[in-house]
Amino acid sequence: MEQSIISHIRIILAGTTHPGNIGAAARAMKTMGLRNLYLVVPKVFPSAEATARAAGADDILENAVLCDSLFDAVRDCTLVFGTSARERSISWPVVEPGEAAEQAIACASGSENTAFVFGRESIGLTNEELNACNRIISIPCNPDFSSLNLASAVQVICYELRKSMQTSEPASSRNEDYQPVTTEEMALFYEHLERTLVDIEFLDPDKPRRLMRRLRRLFNRAELDRNEYNILRGILSAVQQLSGRKEK
Ligand code: SAH
Repeated sequence: MEQSIISHIRIILAGTTHPGNIGAAARAMKTMGLRNLYLVVPKVFPSAEATARAAGADDILENAVLCDSLFDAVRDCTLVFGTSARERSISWPVVEPGEAAEQAIACASGSENTAFVFGRESIGLTNEELNACNRIISIPCNPDFSSLNLASAVQVICYELRKSMQTSEPASSRNEDYQPVTTEEMALFYEHLERTLVDIEFLDPDKPRRLMRRLRRLFNRAELDRNEYNILRGILSAVQQLSGRKEK
């Protein structure tokens, strides 16, 4: 049971600069029983330094999945958590590590894939990477010194995951009839929404401002199920058809 939950949880490091942090993150994962490490364009990998800092968690490094973009790493996930030490101008829904871990375990117990994404040492996650996340986890800490070392942040999250796995009941997974939508499908929805908004001249592609980002935040928060998703896609198609008719 536990192994099957763990197989649906992945830790993703985006654009890591120091290979030592990759090794230390692998060690942090293994101590808490996690296995799936994804690396999005690491600066140096594989590396002797990573292996040394893994201190015996070499198997996690050997099985790490290398990806060209964060989107590639999360396309089959239904719940993606970003992690950040700072506030953003358009704030994404922010959750605490324990709450996030419980949601992730519920998701993984229902055989959905879930991911925790960690940013680069210098600048954290880019806005584009945040777009691929449903929620942001901020680890509560000293407000005057809030940036943890990357592998330390991984350790905190993995610890919370282990704790939740041991305390939560399998019944805490989502409603029986909940049919999830993947990140890849949501990307298709956002493309469709943007095209439609341009068609009906609500969105000016030369002056997009922050409209799409705000809409992403809205729909990410809503956690659409498959039925709702299909209804919205259907509405967009109908609007597009109508706007096409009007132009003729
Ligand atoms: N200077 C960067 C900090 C990067 S620290 C910034 O301004 O974002 C490297 C990574 O560790 C972050 O991208 C995040 O994934 C994680 N991290 C560090 N401190 C954190 C905190 N307090 N809460 C959540 N994640 C944190």
